[in-house]
Amino acid sequence: MIDPTRSAEPCGVCGGDGRLHNAWGQIATCPACHGSGRRAEDRGFHDVTKTKPSHHQPTNRAKVVEKQTWPTTPQGAALASDVRASSLDDATKARITREIIDHESTHGQCTKTFVKKIRKQFRPAAAP
Ligand SMILES: [Zn+2]
Repeated sequence: MIDPTRSAEPCGVCGGDGRLHNAWGQIATCPACHGSGRRAEDRGFHDVTKTKPSHHQPTNRAKVVEKQTWPTTPQGAALASDVRASSLDDATKARITREIIDHESTHGQCTKTFVKKIRKQFRPAAAP
């Protein structure tokens, strides 16, 4: 017997009988109260249709899909390392590294022609 004036309120999903009848006439254990017929302790769980779970809201920057920032092939990574070690400014380094990554994703690898083309864009840091 459920006394609604006490803390054990009837489950809001199944109405207190602990079971749910679906569209095909089957009976399933109520997912909210697990068959107990009593309202679950944790708020929000039994009424997900009205209350959006706050933990599903993305926090700032935390859930952003990570952009690829470094080449995946050995040739590309070696080339990008040389770019990083060069005397170019950071913006140019970032642009060339991006170019390498794009080339990789298009061609599946860094072709020799491409590596040559990129190497022409910078000189070793040791250059006077
Ligand atoms: Zn229930």
